[in-house]
Amino acid sequence: MHFRADLHCHSTCSDGSLTPKELLDLAKASDLRGLSITDHDSFKAYAEALPYAEEIGLKLFSGAEFSSTGKLGSAHILAYAFDLNSKSLEAFCERHMIRRNERNGEILRLLEKKGMPVSAEEVRVAAGPFKEVIIGRPHIAKAMVEKGYVPHISAAFHRYLGDGKPCYAPGDVITAEETIDQIHKAGGKAVIAHPHLIRNPGLLAALLRMDFDGIEGHYAGFAPHIQQQFVKLGVDRGWMVTGGSDFHGDPKPHIPLGRSWVGEETFNLLYEHFLAHELPAAD
Ligand code: AMP
Ligand code: FE
Ligand code: FE
Ligand code: ZN
Repeated sequence: MHFRADLHCHSTCSDGSLTPKELLDLAKASDLRGLSITDHDSFKAYAEALPYAEEIGLKLFSGAEFSSTGKLGSAHILAYAFDLNSKSLEAFCERHMIRRNERNGEILRLLEKKGMPVSAEEVRVAAGPFKEVIIGRPHIAKAMVEKGYVPHISAAFHRYLGDGKPCYAPGDVITAEETIDQIHKAGGKAVIAHPHLIRNPGLLAALLRMDFDGIEGHYAGFAPHIQQQFVKLGVDRGWMVTGGSDFHGDPKPHIPLGRSWVGEETFNLLYEHFLAHELPAAD
């Protein structure tokens, strides 16, 4: 089997349904040789994932997927191969946590006004047992399904929680420019996530002028000729072209781990960059 590494997946530390260890076991069982776990606004998975990857012989480097907003809309930004000891990136994640708590509260108020009360505790239960889980809209959607307000998670997004829908609240602004700076400060590489999903051409054009290091060109939810357009945009800029499945497990059961991937050359560029940082001190 040739070398394949999936650089985009989520664990129970954000809105995925597998624990970091389960994710690594699945990667191994799926014949992947490398992985980066990219939880939303968090890299807490690595405390468990890094030693376990070593144990089972899977190559792993640091990752996260940051939410950014601006006048032109919101975009996801992948961070790779940053220093897991970075205090500034940890503080940045803390700011996201505060932003999310406020925003989630606002969403729950909007749902209550629509006659669909969901308590913070019910969302917490839907988010699973991980203590420092990043709570997002998928967890609110899950709680809404459990209370019988909507038949399934995608209906919750389609009717109420999706961007611009009646119970959506964007929360505090953290811009793409600042996100890139924070990633660079932590010694990492900043990559435009799934550009195929960016609807506003003005936003995409603005992002393409920023100081990114790469673009996620391989994202199999889209036809090969569409992926190729983004691969070309990256190549034209001399950026690295990354790829990954955006695996979440149960919340998106149609997407298997490893559906998109990068080969050994791209993986090693990031892996070697990651190994050059000091490893996290053991407790
Ligand atoms: P949040 O990070 O709280 O703003 O929630 C965004 C997350 O919700 C995304 O990363 C996806 O995992 C998920 N999501 C977005 N749209 C949908 C949808 N239509 N159906 C299911 N999940 C979605
Ligand atoms: Fe997600
Ligand atoms: Fe995303
Ligand atoms: Zn993702």
